[in-house]
This record gives sequence, C-alpha cells and structure tokens, in this order.
Amino acid sequence: MAAITRLINRTTSSSYYSLARRCFTHAPPPQRVDPKQRNVQWVFLGCPGVGKGTYASRLSNLLAVPHIATGDLVRHELSSDGPLSSQLSEIVNQGKLVSDEIIISLLSARLASGEAKGESGFILDGFPRTIKQAEILEGVADIDLVVNLKLREEILLEKCLGRRICSQCGKNFNVASINMKGENGRPGTVMAPLLPPAHCMSKLITRSDDTEAVVKERLRIYNETSQPVEEFYRSRGKLLEFDLPGGIPESWPKLLQALNLDDYEEKRSAAA
Ligand code: AMP
Repeated sequence: MAAITRLINRTTSSSYYSLARRCFTHAPPPQRVDPKQRNVQWVFLGCPGVGKGTYASRLSNLLAVPHIATGDLVRHELSSDGPLSSQLSEIVNQGKLVSDEIIISLLSARLASGEAKGESGFILDGFPRTIKQAEILEGVADIDLVVNLKLREEILLEKCLGRRICSQCGKNFNVASINMKGENGRPGTVMAPLLPPAHCMSKLITRSDDTEAVVKERLRIYNETSQPVEEFYRSRGKLLEFDLPGGIPESWPKLLQALNLDDYEEKRSAAA
C-alpha cells in the first residue's frame, strides 16, 4: 500500500508522472514492497452493473484488505457538499467520467488515510478506467491480479435499473429478477433478486446515475474508454477473465475457485 501513496518524485517529463506528482501531493519517493511481505493488490474491472462492488467487497472481507471503490469516493464527495460537489454531480449524472486528476486526488487521499490507519493491500473497484489511470497506477504499485467480470449487456442494464442502496447502512441490493434465455450457443442466465433485510426496506434509494439513459451512456463510455484497460492488463499477463454464471450463489464459489481461494474460505470459517 505504501508504494501507491508514496508517489514518485522522479525527474521525468512524462505527463503521467507529472500528473500523478501533482495529484499525489506530499509524496516521498516510492517504495515497492515485496509481494510476499504485503497483502494483495488487486483490481476489479467490468462494465457498470456487473457486480464489481459485490464481489470485491466479499473478497475484501475474506482477505481482510480494504475494498476501495472510486465510485463510492465520488459519491461521498458529492454528498459532502464540498467544493467539487456541483462540478461532479453534473458529470456523474450524465454518465461521464470525472477527470483523471480529480479521481487520482480522491484515491490518493483515501489511500493515505488508510495507510495512516495501518491498512495494507487493496482491492480497487472502478479504477483504473482509462489507459492514463492504468499507467499512473503501474508507476506506483505492483498490481498482482486484475479480475475482469463479464455479463451480457442486456443483463447489465436490468441490473443497474434494479440496483438499490440502503441510505442508512450503505449496502447494495438488487430488486431485478433476471431470467435471460441462452442464445447463439451462450447459456441462459438466471439471477435471483438480492433483497434487503426488513430493516433496510424503507430506506432504499436509487443512484441518480442508474436511469436507463445514463446507464446506456455509461456502458457506451465503458466500451470506448475502459475496455482498452482490459487489453493493457491482458498484454501484461495479469488479466483473469471471469464470466459470471448467474447470481451470487452460483458465481461466488466459482470465483473463489478461479482465484484459488476455495479452501482458503473453508480454512477461515473453520478457524472462526
Ligand atoms: P461507479 O460507482 O464505479 O459506477 O462510478 C460512478 C461514477 O463515478 C462514474 O460514472 C464516474 O462518473 C465516476 N468515476 C468512478 N470511478 C472513476 C474513474 N476511475 N475515473 C473517472 N470517473 C470515475
């Protein structure tokens, strides 16, 4: 973790490093920590609505590493009525990406506060979303693994429209009941709704950017701007492609298997 917050004081003219230097303020030179001496540094990629938050948060509990979602940092900034909030709300509500500079400065502040609390490792969700962000991240951290979650686009739209958040506890739920027939050799997909417990039911809210028009725009931007990030990591041999076979009950055990964590969970529950 320290590696990412101690950003580079290299004398390089690269715009990425100078952008990063400006954003990661007060940064002493980087120190890359031997992967064996630290917790995992993973990234979750995937279209809006695919379930990055759900699976990253479950893995964060399992591995005891922070789950850092840049979308949450943006929403927190929006709700704080801070100086950036009106600028951000316009961008987010149009489904557009906020500038690399703003997102890196929010992420940098989050990492610095985690580091001060002794956090180690991270699972990033929603970052990097542009090649520039991926290059900046590569300059400051050794990412061990990038998990690319995949679902059919029609399902993504339904999942975004069905997403609900408890305004009190912040947990994500989904009221969509998905039953998509297979086609062109692809299997069908059934996903049961992820309903909230009774005490959250009256506090559910919908994200302002989860409207049909905005979700379609976010998917378009993902395909155009963020998909090249998949290739960035594929070419480095770090990308694990994972087609979600269904909802959480079907997908979670298979994801653990793909990550070689299936007996890790058993050992942890046995030790608990
Ligand atoms: P998410 O919750 O990941 O869908 O993010 C919600 C919104 O926050 C996005 O639509 C963007 O406007 C903004 N956002 C989150 N992460 C990034 C990022 N890495 N780069 C640019 N904008 C981002």
